[in-house]
Amino acid sequence: MLNGERRIARPLRWAMVGGGRLGQVGYKHRIGALRDNTAFQLVAGAFDIEPERGKDFGVNIGVSEGRCYPDYKTMFASEALREDGIEVVSIATPNGTHYEICKAALEAGLHVICEKPLFFTSEEGENIKALAKKKDKIVGVTYGFSGNQMLLQMRAMIEQGKIGDIRVVDLQYTHGFNSNDKSDKTSDAQKWRIDPKVAGPSFVLGDLSTHTYYMSQLIMPEMKIKRLLCDRQSFIESRAPLEDNAFVMMQYENGAVGRLWTSSINAGCMDGHRIRIVGTNASLEWWDSKPNELRYEVQGESIQTLIRAMPYLDEACMADERLGALHQEGLSESWANIYLKFAIAIDAKNRKDEEALSNLVYPDIDAGIAGIRWIENCVRSADNGAVWVEFEANKELSS
Ligand code: NAD
Repeated sequence: MLNGERRIARPLRWAMVGGGRLGQVGYKHRIGALRDNTAFQLVAGAFDIEPERGKDFGVNIGVSEGRCYPDYKTMFASEALREDGIEVVSIATPNGTHYEICKAALEAGLHVICEKPLFFTSEEGENIKALAKKKDKIVGVTYGFSGNQMLLQMRAMIEQGKIGDIRVVDLQYTHGFNSNDKSDKTSDAQKWRIDPKVAGPSFVLGDLSTHTYYMSQLIMPEMKIKRLLCDRQSFIESRAPLEDNAFVMMQYENGAVGRLWTSSINAGCMDGHRIRIVGTNASLEWWDSKPNELRYEVQGESIQTLIRAMPYLDEACMADERLGALHQEGLSESWANIYLKFAIAIDAKNRKDEEALSNLVYPDIDAGIAGIRWIENCVRSADNGAVWVEFEANKELSS
């Protein structure tokens, strides 16, 4: 169980690029990183594409004026001159900027925590992985839902054979907030999401399903996709070639099959994020909208609802417990859990403790590249007429 006590020698000096006053995701980073003030201290930032607004915002949240920078290049150069300069930076900017900022940060000798989808191409991912290795730095990826500890309960139960062999994987991440084109015209955050120059080769596949794909891999690390078929649509035509809806069928190497539905035009759906794993004798099902509960359905028995924080849960799940029974946890604790793991990974890297690093389960550079590969495979299938394609995985993950 976590109680905020320090897990690393001292808090890391942390900065953000993006995530400013109008940014959608920036506050989630700060909620996560600063939940335990023993892990990170926010000491600098280039928070906004508009420097004055970024400075005003940074000062407002407690960063000293002299360390609120007009852009990330100035920040990396200026901080490198300080004895107490930043050690790690989070990138919370639109997709198309991730690669250049990540590269510049590593070249400046910083650890990096970056938003998903990590980059546009897996080749870019491999380049950054090689650079991070050369610089001996961590690159973490903020799959923000993946810190929900009930996912680790699913992982443990599957590993312990509690559902038998996996037959069916049923994934969904949908909502209805883009059912019409209103926000395409009024919201800056939505405008870039449907512009391939900024968003990359996909809309909802990258924006939503990369989360769910990573979570499925976290839960079932042994399950490798062999082939997939993706059919994607732009129901609002002006969004083409980027999709606002997609279906993906998967065949796994062990003979299991799966499907994933991702959509932002699921009208009326406020949060349809769900994972159901069907085994030979039982199933597990988790919903993001009820993160404290896990359904365990054994064929022929009463359905069980496992409740977060209860002592019958696996120790891996309980290790990430924060508030204890009787209280609800959610997205904030999930972000805090992954940020704490980023801090532990960075500390282990700094101490050259490769054993500690290899035992730590967190969304690392390989998970980021796997997310890009997932999009690449889906787009390749869809753009060839929704055909089955052999799944090209990360080099390390496929071996
Ligand atoms: P947004 O458009 O709401 O905000 C982007 C922010 O970045 C703004 O503050 C903007 O001023 C700033 N910015 C843009 N370019 C910049 C630059 N060069 N230097 C400094 N600041 C810059 O976007 P968003 O919805 O917050 O998404 C940002 C990223 O986070 C995207 O990659 C998106 O996919 C991802 N995201 C992830 C999650 C999650 O759960 N992990 C949730 C939402 C968004």
